[in-house]
Amino acid sequence: MGGVTGWTRRAVLGAGAVGALSACSSDGDRPSPSPTPSGSSPTTSGKIRWGRLERSVRGTLTRPGDPAYDQVRLLQNPRYDGEHPLAVLSVASEQDVATGLIFARDHDVPVALRSGGHSYPGWSGGGSPRALVLDCRPLDQVQLDGATATVGAGAALAHVYEEIGRRGRAIAAGSCATVGIAGLTLGGGVGVLTRALGLACDAVTSMRVVTADGKLRTATADEEPDLFWALRGGGGGHLGMVTSFVLDTVAAPTISSTFLSWPFPAAAQVVEAWQQWAPTADDRLWSTLKMLGGATHPGEPTLLLSGTWTGPTAELDGQLAGLLDHVPSPSVRSDHVRGYLEAMQAYAGSGERESLAATSHVMYDALDDDGIADLLDQVRAAQSSGLKEAGISMDALGGKVADLAPADTAFVHRRALATVQYTATFPPGSPRSADDYVRGFRAAMLPHWGNHAYVNYADPTIEDYLTAYFGANADRLTRVRGQYDPDGFFTQPQGF
Ligand SMILES: Cc1cc2nc3c(=O)[nH]c(=O)nc-3n(C[C@H](O)[C@H](O)[C@H](O)COP(=O)(O)OP(=O)(O)OC[C@H]3O[C@@H](n4cnc5c(N)ncnc54)[C@H](O)[C@@H]3O)c2cc1C
Repeated sequence: MGGVTGWTRRAVLGAGAVGALSACSSDGDRPSPSPTPSGSSPTTSGKIRWGRLERSVRGTLTRPGDPAYDQVRLLQNPRYDGEHPLAVLSVASEQDVATGLIFARDHDVPVALRSGGHSYPGWSGGGSPRALVLDCRPLDQVQLDGATATVGAGAALAHVYEEIGRRGRAIAAGSCATVGIAGLTLGGGVGVLTRALGLACDAVTSMRVVTADGKLRTATADEEPDLFWALRGGGGGHLGMVTSFVLDTVAAPTISSTFLSWPFPAAAQVVEAWQQWAPTADDRLWSTLKMLGGATHPGEPTLLLSGTWTGPTAELDGQLAGLLDHVPSPSVRSDHVRGYLEAMQAYAGSGERESLAATSHVMYDALDDDGIADLLDQVRAAQSSGLKEAGISMDALGGKVADLAPADTAFVHRRALATVQYTATFPPGSPRSADDYVRGFRAAMLPHWGNHAYVNYADPTIEDYLTAYFGANADRLTRVRGQYDPDGFFTQPQGF
């Protein structure tokens, strides 16, 4: 869950081969640009026939020097604004994806796949190494047929909620408005309805995927079952470009939201009680506990809980008693009852671009007193860090997430208590102190939580990342990769 600053503010306020291009021609195309100081690749030899690609697609190819280049190359996180991809192909169809992949393959050009552009390590930016970005944002159509939604892989979450919600249907996904359905769902996808409905990937019944060989495939439980398994929790960027998802929806629930906050000195008691209560609460109750310090909170770090309840509104207090009976009274409480669409819009962040560093844990064990003390020391350290807003968010798992076994999809953390996110926002400039803060926080918690991590909060510095992200599912993911990308065409870091 992201949108840290916005959240705080709101909380307090209440297959066939498709398309093919030959490698060489002399059609008078512009030469490739000179490499930037940070980028050198075989693709900078001046022999890439970009014009051929441009003429072979319905979408738009944007290259350095084109008026739109400095707009389309940007990711959501300004820390990557210095990334300069070789080109950005904004695809208009599945065929464009296949054409782009085959072109890249024929010209030995790396590709970066992009949906919402929120990749924490900036892997969808195509900057290092310089790559051809395949941007699927134009594929953002959302169609609803009864209870079944077909969602283009480029749709932002806000658009999906709008199209589904206004027809009285719902899915569970994340809260940030501009996160892409593709990146989020391929890594699992947690959000305010996760305990009530499951992960975003649990609602997927079918995907259209273009694999490294340029083949357009349909992945379901019966067709390409290994690919279908791997794309539900294995993360994006390694197996192919998904072009659309078919998702089961449910009747849109009424959502009761509650925001609670306490003075920071209550933190030890609240953490202890929350970790016992939140993952085992009624499935219809989800909550996140956040402790955030930094310049935004000059007095003391904030201690906030956001809860989402989809049962009868009158029963919310009874549900919260499992927590509130064990902690001091909150100093602030603010409740809202809304329809699904209205609630999801309220949870969504402002969409403003803000530099962010982040990493993660997945929590399998409740903290003992020493663990809680270490956690709170790290939160306090944010006060003198010079960062805008920094700290930790713990998002409850359990509920419907645990109805599936760890091996049922590639998302292995079915038995965990919570996903944990360490975040730091920072003013324009070097990310170093923000990276140091979040990674130092994670390192301090390693003795307590081990090395588990969530692939959607990818961190290139996590050691033994295969085990951290995928546990016992890593071996099967490696086999699926060998089946669908035997030559290692996709070069995104932290592959399997
Ligand atoms: C502000 C913010 C809020 C967030 N909130 C949540 C949340 O509530 N819940 C949650 O679970 N996560 C959340 N995340 C994490 C988010 O799920 C991941 O960062 C996710 O990978 C972003 O997906 P994207 O499509 O926006 O990003 P992108 O950068 O476009 O893609 C992310 C990854 O997926 C790959 N990819 C993109 N499109 C495709 C495609 N069509 N086919 C195959 N691979 C593809 C990319 O190559 C990249 O590796 C949040 C992140 C941020 C920054």
